[in-house]
Amino acid sequence: MCLNYAVCKDSIYVSIFIFVCYFCRMIEINPQRESTDTAQYQGRRKKLVKELMAQYCYNENVINAISIVPRHIFVEPGLTHLAYLDKPLPIASGQTISQPSTVALQSHLLGDVKGKKVLEIGTGCGYQTAVLAQMGAVVSSIERQKELCRIANSNLKKLGYRNITLYWGDGYKGLDANAPFDAILVTCGAEKIPEPLLLQLSIGGNMVIPVGENNKEQQMLVITRTGEREFDRAYAGKCSFVPMLEGVVK
Ligand code: SAH
Repeated sequence: MCLNYAVCKDSIYVSIFIFVCYFCRMIEINPQRESTDTAQYQGRRKKLVKELMAQYCYNENVINAISIVPRHIFVEPGLTHLAYLDKPLPIASGQTISQPSTVALQSHLLGDVKGKKVLEIGTGCGYQTAVLAQMGAVVSSIERQKELCRIANSNLKKLGYRNITLYWGDGYKGLDANAPFDAILVTCGAEKIPEPLLLQLSIGGNMVIPVGENNKEQQMLVITRTGEREFDRAYAGKCSFVPMLEGVVK
């Protein structure tokens, strides 16, 4: 009798433990559970995803991530009504949140990132970072402006991803201590391709980077490392990003 009671008590504890684990996992996988994600935002997000799918055949993991990550929590409080338009919007420190179709294209061009180590340059408000994390990447993201690091950290905290690490630093230098990366995504326009980033890419890995003169039209470049010192390049169209600048801002 006494033994049965102990077994029963144990199985209750085990069931509670499994329930808590499952619940935590649900929150991690479905960040749209964030309480501000109203039916209206969800409806607008669905519409945006439909528009994106009509424009281009993005890979399924990208579309799934964009349909889950709540973009309205990354935009300025007065602009949330515009969060699900396919437009870049101003954020703090004179920077912008990339437009959803750009985020979709860059994420698509990286290839399969599930379970892969990805380095992002230019965290901004953290939206692209969240999309990569939702796609299953283990993300390290560097931002040069301290204020934006703080904002991105606070935005991303609301979603509870555990596969993101943010760094304040100069993305031109990359993150040598954590290299190599399976993929590198640069979300600002570089005048020159940063050599350290090329060397921090795994062989077989892709780097997606907008390249061109500051404040002029850029080209989206996909660079694949094919050997120790060999790289393939492919162009993926014209684009327009805020400039990649050297040094950090306190
Ligand atoms: N990934 C963002 C885009 C932000 S805009 C999104 O999801 O919308 C590009 C960002 O790159 C800006 O925040 C800018 O401050 C940052 N940036 C520019 N040069 C940089 C550098 N050398 N290192 C790190 N970040 C840089």
